[in-house]
Amino acid sequence: MSFRNFPMVPRVVFGRGSFNQLEEILESKRTNEKSPFIFLVDDVFKGKESLISRIPLNQKDQVIYISADEEPKTVYVDAIRDDIVKQFSDVPSGIIGIGGGTLLDYAKAVALMLTNPGSSADYQGWDLVKNPAVYHVGIPTISGTGAEVSRTTVLTGPERKLGMNSDYTPFDQVVLDPELLDGVPKNQWFYTGMDCYIHCIESLTGTYLNAFSQSYGEKSLDLCREVYLEKDEIDEDSQDKLMMASWHGGMSIAYSQVGVAHAMSYGLSYLLGTKHGVGNCIVFDQLEEFYPEGVKEFKEMVVKHGIDIPKGLCKDLTDEQFDTMIDVALSLVPLWENALGADWQKTITREKLRSMYEKM
Ligand code: NAD
Ligand code: ZN
Repeated sequence: MSFRNFPMVPRVVFGRGSFNQLEEILESKRTNEKSPFIFLVDDVFKGKESLISRIPLNQKDQVIYISADEEPKTVYVDAIRDDIVKQFSDVPSGIIGIGGGTLLDYAKAVALMLTNPGSSADYQGWDLVKNPAVYHVGIPTISGTGAEVSRTTVLTGPERKLGMNSDYTPFDQVVLDPELLDGVPKNQWFYTGMDCYIHCIESLTGTYLNAFSQSYGEKSLDLCREVYLEKDEIDEDSQDKLMMASWHGGMSIAYSQVGVAHAMSYGLSYLLGTKHGVGNCIVFDQLEEFYPEGVKEFKEMVVKHGIDIPKGLCKDLTDEQFDTMIDVALSLVPLWENALGADWQKTITREKLRSMYEKM
């Protein structure tokens, strides 16, 4: 048996206002004057001077705005990399992603693709990346995915939705400033936060569970409950806690695995472009059979916060479309194995998945 030996984020700063330390953090990382820092920023912040004016820009440094309306695709990652290479003779000193899971994943992927030849689609999988990335920094502005700690960057490519999982993927530095969560719309706050809640439930009830995952998962779950069950509104304390819940949730699945909700949500996302957070909620809402207690508590949280969970996504799909979703879901073997054990195929048949998708 071989045990996972995975890298962790080596440096992290936490605190309200810690974003102001970015200049100091980056200073020593500039490789030379011609080698810029490139800031990939969620375009929701365009014109929001309270954030943008605090990005420490020097000489050739550049801000590139990216929309988070769609999840990252390999073609977009390649295009951003090509633009950077065309514009600058020197390899950038660093890539800094500012935004949610979408922008964090772009930052990781672009940083990797600046030092690895070809298309990002060539590296979708496990440990295919050959060369270390350029220095990269993650600065979350919405919490839940755990992308700030994970060793993957999830990309939709020509053939599959799959991450670039590698030891070079994790950020070199993360800045956790809960102040940056101001302005997140309520439904989105819920969907992305529930990604974390679902990570915990899937990790803690899975067959891959071990003391490492459990210790992080239990802490994260406690924090989620404080944020979503005990509080009526989003205050500073709940922002701080959700940011740490996301971190611990990510650490929990690093040494275990996700489960049924993620496997099925990947199917929705691949076929319909449903975003990760909301897709997980749509699926999890229907999973009483697999996660009875988690789903009950989830439904309480939905009601407490008056959240809309979209319904009827699959009502007009063709047989072929159902088959595509089912193929994607079934291909995620470790997720099923974690959720249901080695003989998961006894429970999870194509018909079973079809009938579950039909309810969504
Ligand atoms: P997101 O980055 O897609 O953002 C969701 C929405 O919130 C967007 O409209 C964005 O503009 C908005 N937003 C973000 N911060 C805001 C702020 N402070 N104020 C106002 N609006 C704000 O959301 P997400 O749920 O964090 O990320 C989803 C993505 O993360 C998916 O692409 C998924 O595949 C990926 N993901 C990656 C990992 C990983 O380990 N790499 C894990 C889970 C999910
Ligand atoms: Zn997730």
